[in-house]
Amino acid sequence: MTGDRMKSKVFFTDMKGSPGSGMLVKTERLFDAAGYSDLFKKRELVAVKIHFGERGNTAFIPPIYARRVVDRIKTAGARPFLTDANTLYVGGRSNAASHIVTALTNGFSYATVNAPVIIADGLTGKEYVEVDVGLEHFASVRIAGAAAHADGIMALSHFKGHEMTGFGGAIKNIGMGLGCRSGKQQMHADVKPKVDPAICIGCGKCSRWCQPGAIKVVGERAQIDLSLCQGCGECIVTCPQQAIAVDWGTDTKLMQEKIAEYAFGALAGKEGKVGFINFIMNITPDCDCWGYSDAALMPDVGIAASTDPVALDQASIDLVNEVAGRDVFKETHKNVDWSVQLAHAEKIGLGHRDYELVKVG
Ligand code: SF4
Ligand code: SF4
Repeated sequence: MTGDRMKSKVFFTDMKGSPGSGMLVKTERLFDAAGYSDLFKKRELVAVKIHFGERGNTAFIPPIYARRVVDRIKTAGARPFLTDANTLYVGGRSNAASHIVTALTNGFSYATVNAPVIIADGLTGKEYVEVDVGLEHFASVRIAGAAAHADGIMALSHFKGHEMTGFGGAIKNIGMGLGCRSGKQQMHADVKPKVDPAICIGCGKCSRWCQPGAIKVVGERAQIDLSLCQGCGECIVTCPQQAIAVDWGTDTKLMQEKIAEYAFGALAGKEGKVGFINFIMNITPDCDCWGYSDAALMPDVGIAASTDPVALDQASIDLVNEVAGRDVFKETHKNVDWSVQLAHAEKIGLGHRDYELVKVG
C-alpha cells in the first residue's frame, strides 16, 4: 500500500516454455490473469493498438501473438480491430493505403490475426478527434479518430530501446502512436536534427525526403533550416552516411512529456476499458519505425500486462535491468533520461510507478 492506495498490479510471465505451456498459451493466461476477459462487452469496438513494423523491420510483435489476443477479445463477443495511426515521416506507413500494405507485408492479414486492420487517422492522417486534456503542454490533443471512437483499447507494445525517448513501451505506443500526423508533429516539434559536415557527402537524399523542404545541399554539404524543420526525424533515418543525428542540445525531455500527455488524451473517457500488454522480447536498441532491425541488446525477458501503463512500463524497465544487470537503455542512449516520460505520466495522473509484480506461470 502507498497511503490508502493499492499498488497497481503488473502481471508477468517469463520466456520459459514446456509442453502445453508455450508463449502463446502463456499470453492467454496472462490476458486472463490481468482481468482482460471481463474488460470488454458484447459488440463493443476494441482498438487493438499495435505497431505493424516499418517495411524491412523484423523486430515488431509477431502477428501470432496479436491473433491470440484478438481471439480472447472475441470470446467476450466484442469486436476487435488492429490499428495504428500514420507516421509523420515519409515511409511505408505515412498514409493508410501504404500502411495497410506494410501491415499485410509484415503478416498482419485477416487470415492471420482474425481481425481487420483499420488505420486510425484515415487515408492521409487527417481524421482525428480533438480531446481536451488541460495539461502542462497541451490544452487539447489530436487523437486518431478510430481509436478515439472505439469503446476500448488493448495496447500491444513491443518493449525496446528508442533513440529519442530511451525506451518505447505502453506510454509511447498509445501517446505517440495514437496521435494523428499533425499530433505527432506537435510532439516532435522541439527535437531538431544536426548535420555533421565531416561525414556528409552532399548526396541530397535527406533533402528529397524532407517534407517541409528544410534541407538544402549547399557547397556539397547538407544544411538544415531549423525554422522550417518539423522534427520528424526522417532525415536521420534516411541519410546513408549517418551524417545526421538528433541535436542533443534540443529538448527530448519535452517530447517525452508531450507523449505522456497524448497518452492521457488517448485514454480519456475509456476508464475501465483499457488494457496494456508489453512484449519484452527482441529488445532492439531503436524504434520499429526503422526499415531494419539491429541485434537485440540482451536476451528476451517475457510478457507483462497491466491496466496501468505507467506501472507496466516501470516494471518492464525493472525486469529488463534485473535480467541484464545494468541500466540497458541508459547505456544504449546515453543522452536520454528515460525516466522523464514515467515521471511526467505519473504527475498528470496516467498511472503510478510503484507496482506489485504478480508472476503468471
Ligand atoms: S543524406 Fe546524408 S550524406 Fe546525403 S546530403 Fe544528406 S546529410 Fe549529407
Ligand atoms: S530536417 Fe526536420 S523536417 Fe526535414 S526531415 Fe529532418 S527532421 Fe524532418
